[in-house]
Amino acid sequence: MIKKILYTGFIITAVFTACKKDGNAGPQLGKDDASFTIYENSFLEGLWKLDPDWATTSGFHKYDSLLVVPSDKNRDKMLDFAKKALDSISRFEVTTLNDANKIDYHLMQNQMEMTEWKIQVLKSYQWNPAAYNITGTFAYILNGHYAPLAGRLRNFYQKMAAVADYYKEAEKQIKNPVAELTGLAVDQHLGGLGVFEKDFADSLKKANIPQAEQKQMLDRAHTTAETIKAFTEWLKNLKNDHPHSFRLGRDLYEAKFKYEIQSEVTPQQMYNAAVERKKTIHREMTQISKKLWPKYFGTKPMPADSLDLIAQVIDTLSSKHVQPDEFQSAIANEIPKLTAFVKSKDLLTLDASKPLIVRKEPGYMAGVAGASMSSPGPLDKTGNSYFNVGSLNGWAPAKAESYLREYNQYILQILCIHEAVPGHYVQLVYANNAPSPIKSVFGNTAMIEGWAVYCEQMMLDNGFGGDAPEMRLMWYKWHLRSVCNTILDYGVHVQNMAKQDGLTLLTREAFQQPAEAEGKWKRVTVSSVQLDSYFTGYKEIMDLREAYKKKMGDKYKLKDFNEKFLSYGSAPVRYIKEAMLAKGNSGSGSSGG
Ligand code: ZN
Ligand code: ZN
Repeated sequence: MIKKILYTGFIITAVFTACKKDGNAGPQLGKDDASFTIYENSFLEGLWKLDPDWATTSGFHKYDSLLVVPSDKNRDKMLDFAKKALDSISRFEVTTLNDANKIDYHLMQNQMEMTEWKIQVLKSYQWNPAAYNITGTFAYILNGHYAPLAGRLRNFYQKMAAVADYYKEAEKQIKNPVAELTGLAVDQHLGGLGVFEKDFADSLKKANIPQAEQKQMLDRAHTTAETIKAFTEWLKNLKNDHPHSFRLGRDLYEAKFKYEIQSEVTPQQMYNAAVERKKTIHREMTQISKKLWPKYFGTKPMPADSLDLIAQVIDTLSSKHVQPDEFQSAIANEIPKLTAFVKSKDLLTLDASKPLIVRKEPGYMAGVAGASMSSPGPLDKTGNSYFNVGSLNGWAPAKAESYLREYNQYILQILCIHEAVPGHYVQLVYANNAPSPIKSVFGNTAMIEGWAVYCEQMMLDNGFGGDAPEMRLMWYKWHLRSVCNTILDYGVHVQNMAKQDGLTLLTREAFQQPAEAEGKWKRVTVSSVQLDSYFTGYKEIMDLREAYKKKMGDKYKLKDFNEKFLSYGSAPVRYIKEAMLAKGNSGSGSSGG
């Protein structure tokens, strides 16, 4: 439940008149939580007007019909907004705010500082053509259930009016782009054409819209698809003798890490921690593998090299997997098992009123096999959460076998912990009960991913999988992904790591299949810092739990920690820590607002 009144812009005038002005400090917005809350709402309203795409995908639908052209002028408007917002935020005295608002204060300030930095320093609008992919928002409008279909289709239609100007401007802005990101932009733009060429027309047939109007709408969708194709042709033919490097470099990386991860530590410290963690995991994996060897290999001599030993045991265990036609039902069957386990061990309270809907992957997502969570935008609180399970129907046997070995009987269970219970899905339900939309909209990915990774270990530590050494070994392999994501990301963007070294790290030291390692390499060349979020969030949560244990002494209960931690919403761990470890604070983050 949200107690606040959202997006009522008119209240702001009342604040100005109600506020005392003290002689020399300039205009005051007020010092208390009530005026801060009012400011938050007008802040979001202002932000949405300047960034309708973000508004739409966050679940705020007033500006669905607008597409903002990426011009210098519009960027200046955003810059101006950020400067004014930073000034307004600084007028509140952060120490006087309650815990929930304190976190919002930091999030808003960070977000606006990041906005300035992105526009003035990072300037990815010049070198990242993939930043101009508009299809996601159009697909969100088409597939959302937040409003009647005819209205959504008309917004879709109006939004398309600016597409030609949008790409004309994009072509003006792009200079010496990153080659890898240019390729990605071409693939993604072409991959999304179906939204305009097919999905839109299919939806029109289901809506009650007059024929003549339908024809106009279809014509515009056709023009839009042609414009997008022309943009990909322009990209392909772009003369680019001196492309921007995909490697971010130390300075930009450190700044991006600071804004996106919002950790207390530096990326270098996190990298060092990941390298240490890898060593520890290898030691533990060696011990487990030695123990398991006779059970699976009898008297066959053990490989002398410990990484070879671990690899062989993992390879043997990977043959325990379901058949292609059982894949979906196997995942669906996991959810009630996990729910029952969480309840029986009293790990945290699950909200039975918001069941997770397990469904077959819908058509427009087809091709993304495995399992994923589909959540409504953070402000679309009535929308359902879906656990999409892909089908392996029609896969070549060798491809299916390789995939099923990767998502074997052990990993499949860990995947469901991570994605659903008590991982992402449960965290989302708690976040939706947190009192402020700021935390949902500016959700911290390190906290979100860190929680899911933390849950995998928390479940195993509490006996999930019956303390089987096989399960622990396979979890370590899975966990090495998170750890090596950090090593790879920092290595590539800061330390100039070569491709072959990256692939060796993933295949030899993290026991990944070559195809998976290639995919990860591709990802690290088109993204930065994002891959840090898994291990960083995990480590920060584990460290916080240790500190919290110390603070609570014999009053410590795992369930209390889990629930308190989640009650602050998707906030950076450092601010949750500040609140949870504060003297005299035994309450939760949802007390404010
Ligand atoms: Zn097999
Ligand atoms: Zn995740």
